[in-house]
Amino acid sequence: MGNEGGSRQVSPRATGFESLGLSDAVLRAVADMGYEEPTPVQAQAIPAVLAGRDVMAAAQTGTGKTAAFLLPALCGLGRATSAAPRMLVVTPTRELAQQIADVAGVVCARTRHRFACVVGGVGYEPQKAALAQGVDLLVATPGRLLDLMDQGACDLGRVDVLVLDEADRMLDMGFLPSVRKIVDACDRRSQTLLFSATLSGDVLDNMGSLMTDPVSVEVAPKGTTADTVDQYVLGVAAEAKKRVLTEVLRREGADRVIVFVRGKHRADHLSRVLQKKGFSSAPIHGDRSQNQRARALARFLSGEVGVLVATDVLSRGIDIPEVSYVVNMDVPHEPEDYVHRIGRTGRAGVRGWSLTFCSEDEYADLRAIERLTGSVMPAFPREEGLDTGEDGFAPDQNREVPTGTQRKARRSRSRGRRRAGR
Ligand code: AMP
Repeated sequence: MGNEGGSRQVSPRATGFESLGLSDAVLRAVADMGYEEPTPVQAQAIPAVLAGRDVMAAAQTGTGKTAAFLLPALCGLGRATSAAPRMLVVTPTRELAQQIADVAGVVCARTRHRFACVVGGVGYEPQKAALAQGVDLLVATPGRLLDLMDQGACDLGRVDVLVLDEADRMLDMGFLPSVRKIVDACDRRSQTLLFSATLSGDVLDNMGSLMTDPVSVEVAPKGTTADTVDQYVLGVAAEAKKRVLTEVLRREGADRVIVFVRGKHRADHLSRVLQKKGFSSAPIHGDRSQNQRARALARFLSGEVGVLVATDVLSRGIDIPEVSYVVNMDVPHEPEDYVHRIGRTGRAGVRGWSLTFCSEDEYADLRAIERLTGSVMPAFPREEGLDTGEDGFAPDQNREVPTGTQRKARRSRSRGRRRAGR
């Protein structure tokens, strides 16, 4: 295993990884990707995976979790002899699958494993052809994988390593029955790795029994917001939000900005409004076809589109490097969605910032987030001159982190204050 992948010297830059026990070929891939030091989830998960243990990790996207499972699992992975992969990664969305496939491409180029990525929304034939040729590693979304299994194009009976990625998201999206079928089909696996943004009761109840004596890795406890993100809140009347957004984009820049909205219609509408105002913008949400989503992302990554208007489909799992800042047009109802949304900025050590628009009606949701994150969101320091609407609302600057029960906060109109003179 140690001599796979050619004779290039391992770059000294990869030293931090060397003590973890990875193969030479994988260390070359680490150097190819330019990683210098393992991230905390990698430092904890890699030795456990190499030791053959099941792992259950609470780690958000942006923590380096993809490499945390791919690097060690590909060290000793066997080779497929038929349409029966040896390692399977199941992940909820097409974008995530693509992102995992991108890392797999670099590692497999060094370890000489063959891999394929099967997702919905694209033709079956190329995927069937790839599987028929034999792939060692398969990255898949649940629906398409089940289709291919039903068609006899894929046999999971030889999978050794099964990875369930973004387990909480898969549950949220209703994939539990599909995941169960997939797990059942991997009946000869020797290792199960589960990654989830949070190890909630739901995840543990439904998926905990799939693991055998797992090692727990927890680098992002529930509610931890990336500490590389400055998070601000701005009280804005609902009807003033579009206007304020436009002004913020003019002042703060309209390049590599992600704006989150609730609902796909709003995403489409807001993107059109921004285009009319002269911004280059594209919507991305679950109703768009695979092609439209991929195109919007590619145009954003190339810089052709400056402002991506997204629903929560993008808030988990997608790694978009160098996002300048994130705007939340609304306060997410689910506090954990907030943590995912702002995780889009401030990646890999670069400081980012986020701005959340909060109308009076949304104050209770803001407080629920503050309870989860354990901190009070400071007011946007550059609000001077922004027209936040008649009868504008401002969250109380002296409020404290809410304590007490986790019961969902009821809508409260009482605790903010109206701005004087509006
Ligand atoms: P992930 O959590 O897997 O989505 O990874 C988030 C980002 O961190 C990706 O852009 C990776 O390329 C990057 N990354 C992962 N591991 C490292 C590392 N050890 N050093 C620097 N960047 C990393």
